[in-house]
Amino acid sequence: AKRNQRAGAVIFNAVQASELSRQKTVEEALLAADLETELQLVFQPIIDIALDKTVGYEALVRWHSPSLGLVSPGEFIPIAEHTGRIGLITRLVLKQALEVAKTWPDDIYLSCNLSPHDITTPDYALRIVSTVMSSGFNPRRINFEITETAVMHDFDQAIISIQLLRDIGAGVSLDDFGTGYSSLNHVHKLPLTKIKIDSSFVRDIHILPSSFQIVKSVLALSAEMGLEAIVEGVETAEELAVLKDLGVRSVQGFYFSRPVPASETISTQSVERQQ
Ligand code: C2E
Ligand code: CA
Ligand code: CA
Ligand code: CA
Repeated sequence: AKRNQRAGAVIFNAVQASELSRQKTVEEALLAADLETELQLVFQPIIDIALDKTVGYEALVRWHSPSLGLVSPGEFIPIAEHTGRIGLITRLVLKQALEVAKTWPDDIYLSCNLSPHDITTPDYALRIVSTVMSSGFNPRRINFEITETAVMHDFDQAIISIQLLRDIGAGVSLDDFGTGYSSLNHVHKLPLTKIKIDSSFVRDIHILPSSFQIVKSVLALSAEMGLEAIVEGVETAEELAVLKDLGVRSVQGFYFSRPVPASETISTQSVERQQ
């Protein structure tokens, strides 16, 4: 048994070591990267299912690294966080996203993801505000998405940063809701405008009573707090039907569209051509 344990430990260490070396590789490539040219955005529509209409787009970043190929944001964003590159990435993403959003009709909004550091570091939030203000884009057509974990990391600073963003007229949503540790008590104290219900609660909601109950109570709660609820990760007609029954208004997911390049978003010109 002892020998087996030791073998297990060796295997475990090997896995850890290869994860660490991948992290190191990504970290080094990120530090050497020309982010202005290597980062690109894709946009996933946010659909109003009552109107059957795209009401906004969430900007999602993609990194095309010359040495590593396409690296997912799920992998490089957390690394950028602890190497201090996140401030730059957020501003580049926001600038690019605003340029694209300027080509959309007035009734379509832009939703941008922020990282924990963007809201727990006072200067970062201010720089976001100034990026928005110098773009000339109407801040009322912008929404920022922040995660529960970011908020819980430094609750007091999070309130200040969220309020800064609200003061210029932008909306702020709590992303991945239900996956973190925030108590409802806490959420109530944040100056939010929306809650995004995490995709894990949507998966097979038509056959999983537990997911159904969770989504139902989060919807009731958000209505009570005066917050709009968005459900993300809708993949099938069955899931959508249940959400419709529950009175959900806004959704995102592969069922409607995967994230698309800027050129495939609705532009003012394409709308004029249709009319
Ligand atoms: P997120 O903000 O929760 O974004 C949703 C993720 O789910 C996206 O993955 C999206 O492509 C994917 N998705 C959308 N609909 C479906 C669906 O129906 N089924 C499934 N299985 N997945 C769906 P993506 O683009 O790989 O982004 C992963 C995470 O990386 C994001 O999660 C967000 O936390 C982070 N991220 C992406 N772009 C940015 C950014 O510009 N800034 C920051 N700070 N974080 C970003
Ligand atoms: Ca998001
Ligand atoms: Ca999310
Ligand atoms: Ca997520």
